[in-house]
This record gives sequence, structure tokens and C-alpha cells, in this order.
Amino acid sequence: MKAYRASLLYFAAPESLPGQAAFEQDGLLVVGPDATGRQVVQAIGSYQQLASQVQNQYPGLQIEHLPGRIIAPGFVDMHIHYPQIDVIGSPAEGLLPWLENYTFPHEKRFSAPEYSAEAAAFFIAELLRHGVTTALAFATSHPASVNALLGEAQRHSLRMIAGKVLMDQNAPDGVRDETRQSLIDTEALIEKWHGVDRLGYAITPRFVPSCSEAQLRGAGELAAQYPDVWIQSHVAENRDEVAWVRQLYPRARSYLSVYEDFGLLRPRAVYAHCIHLDEDDRALMRSTGTAAAVSPTSNLFLGSGFFDHAGADRAGFLYGLASDVGGGTSFSPFHTMLAAYYVGREGQTKPGVSLKPQHLWWQHTAGAARALGLQGVVGNLLPGCEADFVVLNPRATPLLARKTGQAGSLDELLFSLIVLGDDRLIEKTVISQADSA
Ligand SMILES: [Zn+2]
Repeated sequence: MKAYRASLLYFAAPESLPGQAAFEQDGLLVVGPDATGRQVVQAIGSYQQLASQVQNQYPGLQIEHLPGRIIAPGFVDMHIHYPQIDVIGSPAEGLLPWLENYTFPHEKRFSAPEYSAEAAAFFIAELLRHGVTTALAFATSHPASVNALLGEAQRHSLRMIAGKVLMDQNAPDGVRDETRQSLIDTEALIEKWHGVDRLGYAITPRFVPSCSEAQLRGAGELAAQYPDVWIQSHVAENRDEVAWVRQLYPRARSYLSVYEDFGLLRPRAVYAHCIHLDEDDRALMRSTGTAAAVSPTSNLFLGSGFFDHAGADRAGFLYGLASDVGGGTSFSPFHTMLAAYYVGREGQTKPGVSLKPQHLWWQHTAGAARALGLQGVVGNLLPGCEADFVVLNPRATPLLARKTGQAGSLDELLFSLIVLGDDRLIEKTVISQADSA
């Protein structure tokens, strides 16, 4: 049992939309094992109200005092490619040339287990440095790449979801897989990793053009056979890609509906981007319980387009934020939240909106967890949630100290952190069992 005295940021009513944050200036967070031994939040609230009660209940309880610090839920990244740590920041003429010239050549190297292991260790250290405690991650088409990532996540006691990429066509030698074997490998990886410790598996067709009909059908069959396994893919990122899918499936109603036809839209299915959707697509997202992983730094970097937050809310489908490294330009949730704000403001291709700071934060924590079907598990600090959290130092830089010192409301404070923040804000990332500074 352990307790922390600090300012606390969390979501008292995480299902109420759009996420309203709770802030306790002088708060107490109590963490301890549940019946199954998982470290979870036992109590959260004001120090004045909770301290004596908690000390009666748990005599000898140590309270770590963190003056001037804010404890907040660990961030949840809904879409990231761990093999792209060396692809980040590569110049290219949009999505398809970027895949061809940088991504595919780089992903070839992950056939080697030692190469995958080194990249996985770097990747997880980078996530933790940035305060990201749960991610839904693409590996490569090589099973070794999944074993490396989930093995490393297991060593850190992380709640991590990943999958072997399925891509049996329109891809070069070295990353292209073979249809039948790719499905056998996927099922073996599900059996090996899904539900082990805090790990989960995601069936991972890269995107429609890279998968044959037989491979998509097989992926859909596995998705039906393992309903609590995740599905992750990409949809409607840019117009060239949408046109390519129309050529491949001229009779499909839309790009998104191709996935539906193969049984790949359902709860725990997460599609990156979801930019070039129409109202029928949005209704389909909602009716199937499918979630969007909104990836604004990637969309701005590759010039793909602007996610329509108002359209998503109108249809009422699930979504949350994602870095999409290496199309995305940063691991930092602060950079992603700021980019989401820019994308929201854009008003030429869709209605412009000013996303509220609390809503941006929710989309990267409790809202993202909800979109993954992990509400009440991660992304929040209500009692029963797994104790993954970050300790923020709002005075981490001179400008942050100056600006946050003048904040007159919670929204002003959070927006200062979003606009000015980066990894320097993250003083410590605490994982439900292991500590990692
Ligand atoms: Zn992606």
C-alpha cells in the first residue's frame, strides 16, 4: 500500500461526454493490491478529507509528498508503429511514397530477433519517458517483432497491445507475408500473448491495399473466433489511398465498408485516421462499436487531411488520440493534443471547432481507454483503475513556470501544459508494479 500527496487530475465521470476533468489542488492518491494482486487505485480525493480515514484504515501507511506536482493518469496512445522509431522525421511526398521509400525498407530489418529486441527496448523506454503507459502498437509482418515488443512490455509490467502486420500483396520482398502462414502465425501469437499478464493481441491488417481478399477474410474469421482480441488497421487517411481502394473494390460502398464486408468492424476494432469518411461511414463506425485513432501530427506531417471532431460527435462514434509514430512527429502526448487542437480549428474542409483542454486530455487518457474497451482499467485514477500514472512538474521550464503560475482556471492550466509541454513535464512515470523514472 502506498499513498501520494500532490495535486490530482482525473475524470470523475469518465462516461460523461466530452470528458470533464476533476482537479484536487491538495489531493491524496492511495494505491494498493486488489484481490488478484494487481496494483490499483484504492482511494482518491482531497488530502484533508481522506488522510485521517486512510491512516486509520492502513496504519503505518507511508505518504509520499510531492509538493507542486500534479499526478495524472498515464497516457494511452491508440495507434503507434514501434518499428518506425527510425522512420520518424523522414521527408516524403505524402503517404504512399513515404511507405515505399522509408517504411517498408526499414521494417525489413525486423525479421532479425536481436534487431527487434533492441528497437523494442528503445521504444518502450521512449514511451515511458513521455508518460505513455498503454499503447496499441503495430509491429511488422515478422512474428519475431511481436515477440520482442510484448516480451519487453511484459518485463516492464505494461498494459500493451500489439500485433503482427498482415500484408500479403502490394508490398516488397522482405515485408510481404504469405496468406496462409500469416493467419497461422496470427493465431499462434494470439494464443501465446493475448490476456497474458497485462498484454493483449491485435489482429493487424495493414490496410486494404496490402491485404488480399483471402487474408482479409481470414482476419475477419479470427476476429469472430476471438471476440476480445483487438483489431487495428488504417482507413481513409488520404485521397490517393481512398482512390486506390475504390479501384480494388469498385462495388464496395466505401473504403470503410470493405472492412465491414470482411467482419473487421466491431467493438475493440481501432482504425487510424478516419479522415475521408462520409455520414454513412460515421453511422457505420457507431453502429458497429468501431473506434477511430485520431493521429493529428501524422495527418499534418503527411498532409493527409483533417479529422472532423464535430462529425464524429454528431454520429457518436468512439475515438481517441494517437501519435502514429513514425508518420507522426512526436511521442509526446502534449504535442499530439496540441496538433489535435490545430486540426480542430481548421475550418475549410469541415466545421472548425475549439477543442476544450479537458476534452483533449480526456481523448488521450480516459476517452482513449474507453475507445479501446478498457474503461475503468487504465486512463483514469478512479478506485479500481490500474495504478499507471505520471507525475508532472508544471514548473519544468522557465516559461511553463511563468505561464502555469498565472493560470486562473483548470482549462487555463491544462492548455498551458498542452501548448508548452513535452517530455520535460514528465518528472516520473509510475507503472502499476514497476517504477520507471
Ligand atoms: Zn499508422
